[in-house]
Amino acid sequence: MMMKCKEVSHLIASGDVDDAGFMKRLELRVHLMMCRHCQGYAKQIKALGEGARRMVGAKEPTAEELQHLENEICDKICNHGGTTH
Ligand SMILES: [Zn+2]
Repeated sequence: MMMKCKEVSHLIASGDVDDAGFMKRLELRVHLMMCRHCQGYAKQIKALGEGARRMVGAKEPTAEELQHLENEICDKICNHGGTTH
């Protein structure tokens, strides 16, 4: 029933939250309220996302760039937290 951290981080990083549908967004919110890892992730992605966008100008980061970013942050979170719930 609960979304996994990986799903949550993917949704946030890909920026597909708005297209994910009402139930997904609700699940995402609930997960973010309960999961400190993903709260931190969401903050970082927001900061990095803006930074990345400045670096490449006005255009959105490519899927490849986002994937890279996602992997980096996910590694940090997983190695730091020690949980993979
Ligand atoms: Zn989580």
